[in-house]
Amino acid sequence: MSPPLTGGCQCGRVRYEIIGEPLKITACHCMECQKQSGGAFGMALWVRSGDLRVKGTPKSYTRTADSGNPMTGVFCPDCGVRLYNIPSSDQDVYLLKPGTLDDTSGVRPERMVWARRKQHWLDIPDDIELVD
Ligand SMILES: [Zn+2]
Ligand SMILES: [Zn+2]
Repeated sequence: MSPPLTGGCQCGRVRYEIIGEPLKITACHCMECQKQSGGAFGMALWVRSGDLRVKGTPKSYTRTADSGNPMTGVFCPDCGVRLYNIPSSDQDVYLLKPGTLDDTSGVRPERMVWARRKQHWLDIPDDIELVD
C-alpha cells in the first residue's frame, strides 16, 4: 500500500489521511481485541504518528491493556467507529484500524499475536508469523 491512504468512520464526521509508508500490518486474537472489534480478532496498521492527519474531532477512551500499560482508543463521537489506538509504550506509533481505509484491498496481516486465543475454526495461512 502506498501513501497517501485515506479513510474514516462510518458517518464521515472523522476522516484521516496517512501521508507516509505504513510500517506493518498485524492482527491480535486477544479477548480485548475480540471485544473491541466485535469480531474474531483486531487488526492494526502501524503508522508513524506524524504521518496521520485527522480531520474532525474524535473522542478517546483509555483502558489498561493486558500488558499493564494504558492503551488509548480514538473513535468517532457520533457513530462510535474506532479509528486507531495509541499504545502508551510507543507514542510515536499509532495502530490504525485498517478496515476504516477507503480501499482495504491491500490489507493483509503479516504477523498475528495472541494466536493461542484465536477462534478454533480459524485456520491461519503458513506465511503469517505467529507470536504468542
Ligand atoms: Zn462517525
Ligand atoms: Zn489484542
